[in-house]
Amino acid sequence: MIYLDHAAATPVSRKVLEAMKPYFLNDFFNPSSAYLPAKKVASEYEEAKGKIAHAIGAKANDLIMTAGATEANNLAFTAVSPDGEVLYLKTEHDSVRNPAKRFAYQEIEVDKNGRILMDDLKAKISDKTELISVALANNELGTIQPLAEIATLIREVCFDRLSRGVKTPLYLHSDASQAMNLLDINVARLGVDLLTLNAAKVYGPKGVGALYVSHDVRLTPLTLGGGQENGLRSGTQNVPGVIGFAEALVNAKEHLNGNRKKYAEFRKILLDGIKDYELINKKHSLDNFVVLCFDGLDAERLVYLLEDREVYVSTGAACAASKGVRSHVLTAIGLSDSETNGSLRLTLGETNTKEQILEAVEIINEVVAGEKARIHA
Ligand code: PLP
Repeated sequence: MIYLDHAAATPVSRKVLEAMKPYFLNDFFNPSSAYLPAKKVASEYEEAKGKIAHAIGAKANDLIMTAGATEANNLAFTAVSPDGEVLYLKTEHDSVRNPAKRFAYQEIEVDKNGRILMDDLKAKISDKTELISVALANNELGTIQPLAEIATLIREVCFDRLSRGVKTPLYLHSDASQAMNLLDINVARLGVDLLTLNAAKVYGPKGVGALYVSHDVRLTPLTLGGGQENGLRSGTQNVPGVIGFAEALVNAKEHLNGNRKKYAEFRKILLDGIKDYELINKKHSLDNFVVLCFDGLDAERLVYLLEDREVYVSTGAACAASKGVRSHVLTAIGLSDSETNGSLRLTLGETNTKEQILEAVEIINEVVAGEKARIHA
């Protein structure tokens, strides 16, 4: 099998699995229990949170652990008051778009590479805007956004509001789910107030995530109960999951530069070897994303034909692909219906070798040529 869909899911790495195992078996205790072995687990849980926080330049207490990025994104929007307005990038994941739609919202436009149009953002900020959500890297294109620039603009808006006696806060939220493997993330450098993390995309367990929350942001819990995670996310802690997430993030940090080099080389092999495509994510992309348009072909058919050859790729976000919905991301960057229909997303990861990439090139060329011959027959 040649797996080229790491943006959809990454396998749990051996090291992560080994780190998690004891917490399923011997150290299974509830961290809130009073006896010593449980206290030990509680302290190891906090230590793991500390490692995750350290990886993004934060402290354990700044993190609310969640059951994945969807929950973290939903939790971020609880910072908004009922009358507040929100802005989000048109290409955001549904777990940002849908909670945003509970408020008065506007979408920020992007250019043909999926980069934010700063003038559009500026024009759409009003005195009632309370939250702006822009993913650090997009999950269909890999487009990296200039978060520090957005944060600077937000600071200017906040100063202006203060000078006019407007007390409404304005926060920057970013979903970093796809970026953690490839970018060195630091919350202060990015200038974010809220940051979503996702273990499932960094060779950690699925259903584990976190929301970084800066000190001045006030959230409302989505679940009420025993008061875990500073009262913001009640429920017994997922100790093995969080231990695994910490291990995964430490590994991701260690391999950041090596992986980037490897993916850049693999990307070049794909781009040089595959025939007759238009490259969609030309600029500002994570190194492991390759989005190709075979105009006039049906990418969904290509996915199934490639699956027959044991090459696993995607037409876009896994959740949209499974519903057969046209990609809102590809539409947002201005692709026509026919271009959107013909677009394939290949996402590279740690399971890939150079030999696999060379083989994938051959198989993709054969499958595409076969489809063209079928259409023109
Ligand atoms: N945000 C982004 C950018 C994603 O790519 C994903 C998953 O594909 C999510 C959020 C949702 O993550 P989860 O399904 O783990 O909650």
